[in-house]
Amino acid sequence: MTPRRDALAFLRRFASAPKVELHLHLEGAVPAAVLVGLSSRSAKPIFPDVASVRARRRALGSPDAFFGFYRDVCRQIRSSADYAVIARSLVARLARENVRWAEVYVSPAVVEKIGLDWFDVRDALEHTFAEHEARGGGRVRVLLDFVRHWGPAAAERVLDLHAERPWPRVVGFGLGGEETAFATGDFAEVYRRGRRAGLLPVVHAGEWGGPDSVADAVHFLQPVRIAHGIRAAEDPALLKTLARKGVVCDVCPTSNLRTGAVSRGAEHPLRRMLAAGVPVTLSTDDPGLFGTTLVGEFRRAASWGASGAELERCAADARQAAARTRSYTAR
Ligand SMILES: [Zn+2]
Repeated sequence: MTPRRDALAFLRRFASAPKVELHLHLEGAVPAAVLVGLSSRSAKPIFPDVASVRARRRALGSPDAFFGFYRDVCRQIRSSADYAVIARSLVARLARENVRWAEVYVSPAVVEKIGLDWFDVRDALEHTFAEHEARGGGRVRVLLDFVRHWGPAAAERVLDLHAERPWPRVVGFGLGGEETAFATGDFAEVYRRGRRAGLLPVVHAGEWGGPDSVADAVHFLQPVRIAHGIRAAEDPALLKTLARKGVVCDVCPTSNLRTGAVSRGAEHPLRRMLAAGVPVTLSTDDPGLFGTTLVGEFRRAASWGASGAELERCAADARQAAARTRSYTAR
């Protein structure tokens, strides 16, 4: 669909405007050229050139294909210096897009799975993010991500690491990974612990899991925000609950298409969520894996018929959500 004129006017203003991005994953942000560089150290590189990364993007379409791609990206990371390279490319993209506040999911469990020391990686990331801010780049804050399919004990370990040496840049925690693994209630205790530590609770739900996954997340985990949450649109009462409680959904249009969560743009519930009064923000999720930008996500929503006012609402909801993080954590 050709974007509406008011949406095009918004996009022109938005291109250079200060922005907020609240849903993106560190390893998923690695640009194709950087991924090729990391991969080139292998005898048989999985990603020998940018065309091979693009081919992998085109072959997505299911959760399994997505997690396979994500795992293969993680397999190219060998050191904390590699993490610094990825973080530098991430902040360079944030600077290009004038993102003044970003909340990035960083997963100590993934770092340890790769075989690296969490504190080494954390120090490398801190150095890169601090340098970016010192140069006048936007603020980068961290959400510690639990990997759902590794269970509640692995999530407890993440909070143990944070308790051992707290990282002031951390503002919250989330639960990503395979959405249908483990019952949501299994994570209720670790969420209580995270909240007691003064951290903002966020959770991935309603991407591949149905509306029940969103309802369970709200009931058991009491998140301030939900990453995706789009399947809530199948239950009007649930949309009303999200709107009433002010639970923000951090929606990623390109990601939803590429992973097969939504089969066609025309079916994406973004506008129905907005119409129901749910606070919605737009983000890239995994900009390296999906080959997208924050402006690109707004452009895609415009191509689905979102009006200038609806796009402005998403940008305003993101600013408000960022303010809420700051007031929640005093950072
Ligand atoms: Zn995500």
